[in-house]
Amino acid sequence: MSDVDIIALSAAAAAAAVGEGSLSASELFDAYRERAAADRAAGADGLNCFTWVAEQAPPEMVSGAFAQPPPLTGASLAGVPLAVKDLFCTEGVPSQSGSRILEGYLPPYTATAVSRLAGAGAPLLGKTNQDEFAMGSSTENSAFGPALNPWDRGRVPGGSSGGSAAAVAAGLAPWALGTDTGGSIRQPAALCGIVGLKPTYGAVSRYGMIAFASSLDQAGPLTRDVTDAALLLGGMVGRDERDATSLQFPYEIELPAAERLDGVRLGVPEELTGGAAGGGPSSDGEAGAGIEAGVLDAFQATLARAEELGAEVRPVRLPHAPHALSAYYVLAPAECSSNLARFDGVRYGLRAQGADDLLDMYTRTRHDGFGPEVKRRIMLGTYALSSGYYDAFYGRAQRVRTKISEDFRAAFESVDFIVTPTSPTVAFRLKEKTGDPWSMYLNDYCTVPMSLAGIPAISIPCGLSEALPVGFQIAGPVFSENRLLDVAYALEQAIGFDGSPARV
Ligand code: GLN
Repeated sequence: MSDVDIIALSAAAAAAAVGEGSLSASELFDAYRERAAADRAAGADGLNCFTWVAEQAPPEMVSGAFAQPPPLTGASLAGVPLAVKDLFCTEGVPSQSGSRILEGYLPPYTATAVSRLAGAGAPLLGKTNQDEFAMGSSTENSAFGPALNPWDRGRVPGGSSGGSAAAVAAGLAPWALGTDTGGSIRQPAALCGIVGLKPTYGAVSRYGMIAFASSLDQAGPLTRDVTDAALLLGGMVGRDERDATSLQFPYEIELPAAERLDGVRLGVPEELTGGAAGGGPSSDGEAGAGIEAGVLDAFQATLARAEELGAEVRPVRLPHAPHALSAYYVLAPAECSSNLARFDGVRYGLRAQGADDLLDMYTRTRHDGFGPEVKRRIMLGTYALSSGYYDAFYGRAQRVRTKISEDFRAAFESVDFIVTPTSPTVAFRLKEKTGDPWSMYLNDYCTVPMSLAGIPAISIPCGLSEALPVGFQIAGPVFSENRLLDVAYALEQAIGFDGSPARV
């Protein structure tokens, strides 16, 4: 098979080709390895998706051990190489979470999600660029330079899993792992025209993920289509005794097959869509998402398609959703200020030289090692947790979080899923939002509520606006992944989005 033919295959199709013997696992690995390595070697002339690329296929693949599907339950991943966001610890391989403070850090162990997938047949292809400690929506907060959007190199791929999303969209990796704390899988998937799934909180082990906000962080797939997302998710879910918050997934993850949506009730929350029946909401933060007209058009066209497939579309209320972003920007910085206390120059990565004493060494290391967004959040979080303010900020944000969960629970009594645009805008220009943190934070207006509630949500490409991809978000109750994937699949077939222009 030629490299062009190989790159054209979805991950599931590539796995099938390996299973049948029409493609060898090492041929498949090499085709992607060459493309990923070339992008990395191109430096600023490439997409800057990768921070590290494997030098060769793992030995067991060359010897043919992966040629046959490994004897696991569920579908085999049959040697389809995997790009992994930098913040997953990978033994002996740089794992820097996009930060100077972890430059050169080689972990002595591998994250559970990555080792499970490797065990199921998906070997590590490379580590992908990301916003520093996953804080950001554009990958511009990476200490290693921004990743670029393959649809338009003057624009961001979204973030924080921007390197993973851009790599999959550009055909530099068949599929990738990302993490989502407030939207970091779904928003870059939307901006790059691919599929991104944030699973139910706890469905995937966080062991070995360099933490940002532990009560929100969740790993998930970034893939070319919905079938690939199901396949990858199936290889990573499950209880892990090393992560006390991980859960046994109650069902086997199934490959989606639905063609119709008869009887499926889709709820459109006015609070997150400005009442998609007409007009975009204002962009003054709390009052609305400021959804672009082109995004709203693609969203409404997708609702019409859903109705053609038999779905019932109706309005639903999420009264506290407009406060989600404010609560998130208290809770996530609070958790990050605690999680990032461990980076002190003693245990990992960077240590500032020439310090007078221990305190001076801590201070200099953190001064030199953290970028401005991370420092902003550590300061915000430390303030919000300080004794005089704890209840006014952290306690109050926790109460808002509870209200948001209750809103979803109530909504799911009258609808099966909630749908919104994934991101209020298409991919924006590099540097367009770096000077204005609030406008950057607004990217996650529609994704943060689901993160606070711990429920699963998927973004699928639903069309173009200004020749750039638009994402359609579908969220469901805890552990509804199989039904969620089915609905996404039926819509995907009807939409027929063509991602190939990004793979040149
Ligand atoms: N953009 C959001 C933030 O900066 C979400 C990031 C994420 O999901 N990791 O916090």
